Amino acid sequence: MTNPVSKWNYPTTVLFGAGRISELPGALAASGIKNPLFVTDPGLAKLPVVASTLAILDAAKTPYGVFSDVKPNPVESNLTAGIEVFNKGGHDGVIAFGGGSALDLGKLIAFQSGQSRPVWDFEDIGDWWTRADADKIVPIVAVPTTAGTGSEVGRAGVITHEASHTKKVIFHPKMMPAIVIADPELTAGMPPFITAGTGMDALAHCLEAYCAPGYHPMADGIAVEGVRLVLENLPRAFHDGSDLIARANMMSAAAMGATAFQKGLGAIHSLSHPIGALYDTHHGMTNAVFMPYVLAFNREVIEERIERLAAYCGVEGGFDGFAAAILKLREELKVPHTLPGLISGLDMDAGRKGLIADMAIVDPTAGGNPLKLTREGALQLLESAIAGT
Ligand code: NAD
Repeated sequence: MTNPVSKWNYPTTVLFGAGRISELPGALAASGIKNPLFVTDPGLAKLPVVASTLAILDAAKTPYGVFSDVKPNPVESNLTAGIEVFNKGGHDGVIAFGGGSALDLGKLIAFQSGQSRPVWDFEDIGDWWTRADADKIVPIVAVPTTAGTGSEVGRAGVITHEASHTKKVIFHPKMMPAIVIADPELTAGMPPFITAGTGMDALAHCLEAYCAPGYHPMADGIAVEGVRLVLENLPRAFHDGSDLIARANMMSAAAMGATAFQKGLGAIHSLSHPIGALYDTHHGMTNAVFMPYVLAFNREVIEERIERLAAYCGVEGGFDGFAAAILKLREELKVPHTLPGLISGLDMDAGRKGLIADMAIVDPTAGGNPLKLTREGALQLLESAIAGT
């Protein structure tokens, strides 16, 4: 295969392919944005990938502002500061540029800049999104630089509510970016740890969506192909960051995961969310730690599905073979096998474990777990991830 280049609408327009970041000025014009706020994170802001992208805007004489005060696992104060910069600069749209953190915060700035209610009023609960003043959402051009969250094709933004140490998912259909530039070259500079963590996030999305109960053959079909792409390409991208075919396939897998998880997620995410909020761990890496324990936990209800998935992916040995492949992949990517391996000095007492279990069972993703996630079940999974058994 040569470098894949295409244009997809599903319904977001995705300009996919190496080098397509050069089309940013055209994407802004097509979205009706004349004076964008470029939202990124402070780590990326120092890298050549941002300088070269801003040079494209300079060459096109596009006026723009830059906001880079975005923490990994963004918090409300990042959003408040971003909205202030957006309003002061008289911006009319957002370029959300980065991993899930910058993409989500950029999307949330575009959304909240026109709202009078607090962002927490738009949590992804029932029809809360209908409270929004929909015509006051400005257009977004999303440019992912990691291949994991798939936030570029999603209608949600994740933000941590610091007072309660919870990650909240904010949802509005119009938070879907107008145009995505998915340029695998932008991901080539990701260090191996981020490549591994974000890639395992894409795998967690595909796997949990596929295993979630309910009838959604479209999501299932997208998820199984997403799993195959990750199994075949993540080790390649991890070992050779400049392998643009592997990077392109991972970028597709990430978008596929986020498309598939409209069906639901499950206990990997239900536990990863409180751990991320309480310990500020990388989201995808935390998912990767929980993955084998949750697979084993759900076995009795997903065995047949996983056998079909394994066969599709060319993994021999049915459920056991697939579980072994996940363990081998984690090992190859240097994913810690346990939570203490991820969080140095971790010391959880019974009260802290109970708190995490309580948070996990009310996480919005818990309902998608194929086995009902009870407090006891969440505690059992937490103990497994601590002990590594
Ligand atoms: P991230 O955005 O937090 O970035 C992690 C680190 O990678 C940062 O230090 C960043 O500077 C660096 N980085 C990003 N791109 C790089 C590149 N090309 N080269 C070098 N370094 C680079 O990580 P992420 O995993 O992409 O996003 C995680 C966030 O996304 C979490 O807050 C998570 O909750 C959220 N999330 C959102 C959704 C959604 O549907 N909106 C889904 C899953 C996760």
